[in-house]
Amino acid sequence: MTESYKKVYDISISLGDESIDWPGNPPYAREMVSQIADGAYCDLSKITMTTHVGTHVDTPAHFVAGGKNLDEYPIEQWIRPAHVVSIKDTRLIQPGELKSLDIEPGDALLFKTANSTSGRSTSGVFSEDFVYPSPEAARFCVEKKVGLVGVDYGSVDKRSGRHHPTHLELLGNGILILEGINLKDVPPGRYTLFCFPLKIKGAEGAPARAVLMR
Ligand SMILES: [Zn+2]
Repeated sequence: MTESYKKVYDISISLGDESIDWPGNPPYAREMVSQIADGAYCDLSKITMTTHVGTHVDTPAHFVAGGKNLDEYPIEQWIRPAHVVSIKDTRLIQPGELKSLDIEPGDALLFKTANSTSGRSTSGVFSEDFVYPSPEAARFCVEKKVGLVGVDYGSVDKRSGRHHPTHLELLGNGILILEGINLKDVPPGRYTLFCFPLKIKGAEGAPARAVLMR
């Protein structure tokens, strides 16, 4: 533990019990391929998952052809001053709830919504009724030069086929996305965010362990 931080919040979702499989994507699975209990010399498990299950990051390459992938982000990019913002609207994140924030370019904005407070974020079961940022809120983030947007459900867009306006607005303007965090126990306010994606060559996104400290 570093001396300068007094409080540490693990905002990551536990893969396998709290994580939610996105409909249509291959589900997360973990199986034992060897077990000490069966006479093997070690326990060893195999996981199957997409790079976008549980707590994970999206880089522009996820939605923008030729966009930047993980290789192009040095580790410093995953450490940022962060604002945890409490959102009262139980349907959409709108710019009106963000206007009073004192945002510096590059800051991370993490939205604490009814997804976290109701337990929907960690339920393990997909629900269509999650709270997500409106395209107008995404535009607000672009105008404020936010560096990273974090949401407490599996996507910044509602589920609707091929239409992903918030992903395109954010990633198309170079804003990183952190999806699948749980802010239930985190008071609104200012923190330092650490979210380190797995170092997967050329990947458009990756699972991450995300932590807030202050
Ligand atoms: Zn994603």
